[in-house]
Amino acid sequence: MANEYEIKKLMCDIGKRIYDRNMVAANDGNLSVKLNDNEFLCTPTGVSKGFMTPEYICKVDAKGNVIQANGNFRPSSEIKMHMRVYEKRPDVGAVVHAHPTFATSFAIAGIPLTQPIMPEAVIALGCVPIAEYGTPSTVEIPDAVEKYLPYYDAVLLENHGALTWSTDLLAAYLKMESVEFYAELLYKSKMLGGPKEFDKEQIAKLYEIRRKMGLPGKHPANICAELNGPCKGCHSTDGQCSCGSKDADKPDVEAIVAEVTRKILSQMK
Ligand SMILES: [Zn+2]
Repeated sequence: MANEYEIKKLMCDIGKRIYDRNMVAANDGNLSVKLNDNEFLCTPTGVSKGFMTPEYICKVDAKGNVIQANGNFRPSSEIKMHMRVYEKRPDVGAVVHAHPTFATSFAIAGIPLTQPIMPEAVIALGCVPIAEYGTPSTVEIPDAVEKYLPYYDAVLLENHGALTWSTDLLAAYLKMESVEFYAELLYKSKMLGGPKEFDKEQIAKLYEIRRKMGLPGKHPANICAELNGPCKGCHSTDGQCSCGSKDADKPDVEAIVAEVTRKILSQMK
């Protein structure tokens, strides 16, 4: 792993890319990197991520408490949502939050990115659901994001922006680029009369490619394999993301088992 200073420099480089690529305005957005189980680097609040130097970067512990911060720099108020990702996904090494124009427009319109329209998006991203709106800097956003963490590597934040995570900072940033590119294509194809979606057979072939590539992270191709069928994946269920909403239309197996157990026990009395 690169040394801490190198990681801080990379955070500045990626901050500049996010700013230059119109993924944030003014002082918006934030990045974090996991150094170890109790040390995390994060960007400061109230500064443009396009103009940072390594001494801007702050360090927090697993609870988000400040370990190190130069001058008046303080960690982003959104660090709570980053920490929730690290807490629930030990495989994650970096988290990126931005407001990319097209992805955020979908988040504002309440439209998840679930339509299978191009191979790279299906293979790399799977689906991008929308985490319900929460007030920034409160635990509402981490709470809304949490239920999607076991199944996805990217979410839209309702009426707000996007959040991506991966094994390292470059991978988490590239995921944000992919989310935005996919959102832009989806938007433009809707302008041209609506996208032509892949059929289930075409999707199954793309999932197979994903499995053969052995890519890290969570994806409907792997979740379906892990869950042995019951979660059919967002693309193969008529464009709906079913993985993240197991309480929506699927039976709650634990509740059924508990109810059956209760009935049997009551008959034994
Ligand atoms: Zn934001």
